[in-house]
Amino acid sequence: MDCRPGCGACCVAPSISSPIPGMPGGKPAGVPCIHLTDDALCGLFGQPDRPAVCEAFSATPALCGDSREDAFARLRALETATA
Ligand code: SF4
Ligand code: SF4
Repeated sequence: MDCRPGCGACCVAPSISSPIPGMPGGKPAGVPCIHLTDDALCGLFGQPDRPAVCEAFSATPALCGDSREDAFARLRALETATA
């Protein structure tokens, strides 16, 4: 599936354990990445210092659901299950 414009749930809901530029310890679950723009885009998109985990992440119906709220719920549940 194509990433849903204006969503950004995957840049907020999950924890990221690898370093992110400006967030050397990664980020906790529920905290927006500092590179998430106001229009829910990645400020590091296409740049070499974009974390590999972000490069590898793809939009899928199982993770992204039918709406931003649905994606948050699914990603929170996954975070809890894998904590
Ligand atoms: S959760 Fe899915 S739809 Fe939302 S921004 Fe991330 S990849 Fe795109
Ligand atoms: S670096 Fe970009 S894709 Fe990765 S969490 Fe931050 S805003 Fe999202």
